[in-house]
Amino acid sequence: QAKDFGRNSYRFFSSEQHRLVQSRYRMSGDLHRAIETDQFQLYYQPKVDLQRQTVGAEALIRWSHPELGFIPPGEFIPLAEDLGFIDQIGHYVLCEAVRQAKEWYDQGLSVQVAINVSAKQMQRRDMAEEVLQVVEQYSCPPHLLAVELTETSFLHCLDETRATIKKLRDAGISIAIDDFGTGFSSLSYIRNIDMDVLKIDRSFLINIENSDVDRTIVSSIIEMSQAMGLQVVAEGIETETQFAMLKALNCDQIQGYLIARPMPAENFSDWFKAQLKES
Ligand code: C2E
Ligand code: MG
Ligand code: MG
Ligand code: MG
Repeated sequence: QAKDFGRNSYRFFSSEQHRLVQSRYRMSGDLHRAIETDQFQLYYQPKVDLQRQTVGAEALIRWSHPELGFIPPGEFIPLAEDLGFIDQIGHYVLCEAVRQAKEWYDQGLSVQVAINVSAKQMQRRDMAEEVLQVVEQYSCPPHLLAVELTETSFLHCLDETRATIKKLRDAGISIAIDDFGTGFSSLSYIRNIDMDVLKIDRSFLINIENSDVDRTIVSSIIEMSQAMGLQVVAEGIETETQFAMLKALNCDQIQGYLIARPMPAENFSDWFKAQLKES
């Protein structure tokens, strides 16, 4: 089953499956069981520099539901937040990503692994302590971990969020703003929060070949990020033309299907080793 959704195919829901997913009562039980019985897995998607050398990987959670098959995180993460499971799922993601980063590191593969942390998780007071404790537990060099936050993290408890971010950065963990440009408060928080990486949302890149407006927006975001000393990543790059345009705009890093789809850990390390041999 897991192999079916592995490589390149997403299975979309029939309306029947949709109704099942929307049955919150059922999902609550299913999520509980999924946590107990290890139905989650992390996939890894490379981030590369302009020479296409891998500089890191984003860990993306996958749920292989015993009856419904693959359920995308865009569907079950919001549900898990609502139903009170996000802390447990977040803990799994953190431990597994850190364990994997350390395993690769011990094999001589230095890959910075980024995890996604939702706004709900950031609201927990002991968030930074949890992360630092896990990093220590696995003896993982902290620079091998990055945390991706979305703009919604800055809508509530701004002081606590800033304190959490400071603790993580002081420990050497990298902080990225994900899906930049899709939130509401882009420019007001960006002045007040110390971070390392800004990821331009795919929605601005999808039409970059044809839209002068989008190209101008992307070019401005890149310039602004670099002026602020941030690394800038373009998400969701699918074509060589898009890649060439971002290269011309001097974007730092690229992530997208053009380079590779998210893949299981073993496939990622094979892919990475093959790349190291080539260069
Ligand atoms: P995100 O963090 O912005 O992750 C990027 C999403 O874009 C991923 O979808 C990835 O598979 C997809 N993507 C990458 N390159 C391309 C491309 O070239 N074209 C297209 N069409 N898509 C591309 P995915 O894995 O379905 O994840 C969706 C969202 O779910 C993520 O967006 C993130 O917000 C959330 N998510 C995923 N894993 C986790 C997790 O472990 N914890 C939390 N809290 N959220 C997660
Ligand atoms: Mg992300
Ligand atoms: Mg993103
Ligand atoms: Mg996105």
